[in-house]
Amino acid sequence: ARTPAAPEVELPATPLEWIEPFVGSERTETVRDTLHGVRDLLDGRTVWHISDNPVRGGVAELLRADLPYLAGEGISTRWTTLDAPPEFRAFTKSLYYRLCGVAPGADTADLERGRRMYERICAENAARLVPAMDRRSIVVVHDHQTAGLIPHLRAAGCTVLWRAHIGTPLQEDLAARGWDFLHRYISCAHCHITSCAGVLPAGPEPVDRRVLQPSIDPLSPKNIPLHPGTDPSRLLAAAGLIEGERGAPPGRYALTDLLVRRPAHVVRDGGPAPAGAPLVTQVSRWDRVKDIPGVIRGFAEYVDPALDAHLLLVGPETRGDRQAERVFAECRQVWAGLGRRGRRVHLVQVPTANPSEHALTVNAIQRRSAVVIQKSLAEGFGLTVSEAAWKGRPVVAAPVGGIREQVEHGTTGLLLSDPRDLRGLGEAVNRLLSDRGYAEELGRNGHRRVLRRFLTDSSVLGFARVLLDAAQ
Ligand code: UDP
Repeated sequence: ARTPAAPEVELPATPLEWIEPFVGSERTETVRDTLHGVRDLLDGRTVWHISDNPVRGGVAELLRADLPYLAGEGISTRWTTLDAPPEFRAFTKSLYYRLCGVAPGADTADLERGRRMYERICAENAARLVPAMDRRSIVVVHDHQTAGLIPHLRAAGCTVLWRAHIGTPLQEDLAARGWDFLHRYISCAHCHITSCAGVLPAGPEPVDRRVLQPSIDPLSPKNIPLHPGTDPSRLLAAAGLIEGERGAPPGRYALTDLLVRRPAHVVRDGGPAPAGAPLVTQVSRWDRVKDIPGVIRGFAEYVDPALDAHLLLVGPETRGDRQAERVFAECRQVWAGLGRRGRRVHLVQVPTANPSEHALTVNAIQRRSAVVIQKSLAEGFGLTVSEAAWKGRPVVAAPVGGIREQVEHGTTGLLLSDPRDLRGLGEAVNRLLSDRGYAEELGRNGHRRVLRRFLTDSSVLGFARVLLDAAQ
């Protein structure tokens, strides 16, 4: 069965003034002026975005955050997602692992065997979408799943920008086959945009290349401040993640003034953490690139039990997502093998049926964490790293892709010497848990760095500048 026909994502128009209290009038004016320049140049042309899905992962988070501000300044903006069967998702997942250079994934023969199916699904989606576009449209095609649409969009006369959110690969030789597979599609685009340098292999095509760093929205349910006086522990207790009064009203959130009456019922292994325990958290999709088993092992083997910390591995509900179910089962197996040490480790699936409630639950978990980990093996840009830093949390992260730009080692967080360094992970966590003053200082500096460089206005401005060129 196919996933339900992928609908267009409804985009509200958000006035730019809303972020002015965070970023100030000068920055807001710069973005507004640039967007108005783009609007005039576009002269009614629509900017389309096509991505894999409307809810899961950083691309959905970023588009949901940025696009309403473009719409809010009068730029005709539409976002649609793929209609694809499970075998397409399985194929693009193994292609993704290949591009990240983290696992053999599919061998080349498998990639070639999958090509016909990949091209068929992309052609079907193009046939559905192209009639709704006009040939003056600018289309931003996100990541490898949608790259196969590029030749169709070009043939229809659109200007096509391919935006890759993938990171620099862990092992280049593994990634090379994945790039060989994609080459014939992405070489048709007018421009390639990546989140950090060094992602794309050197190629002979004269395709324009840009680097655009993603950002986070301080006003999204993921990042808004809690209502003054609301303790995130209450929400975690109400959701059954830490000991406390289960089912008690968790409190209010500022700005949306949303009262979460029925906290997300989480699926978790490992029971609730003790009420006062320091929490060490990684929030990520259930994906091998996030190396969740490595986080579990590093924590169990190297974090000092005397510090009484508990590890929370937080991800979305896996139901209906076979690849995620498989990775979750792998993580659960590693957890089960820990024996008694597993009592300090908790696997958490947060329901996704209500996106705002999901985001608010993750927001509270991040705020309640003493340390936030992001031990990815490859990453274009880790939104979770910026989300944690924005909330003043110290971060321990792998030195990969865009994360190297996001975290200033020793100033805003701690970078491992190698993404596979489990001992280093444990030592960094021990250091932050035992020196609270240092941890707080890193958190404060991290917040300032996000404010300076990684809030919505920065990525909207960067994208507006790309559009200025594309619309010429
Ligand atoms: N996320 C979430 N719920 C989860 C796991 C992740 O809302 O259970 C969000 C996370 O907060 C972040 C995004 O998904 O906003 C992940 O983006 P990131 O750049 O860290 O990684 P990606 O998923 O794009 O590889």
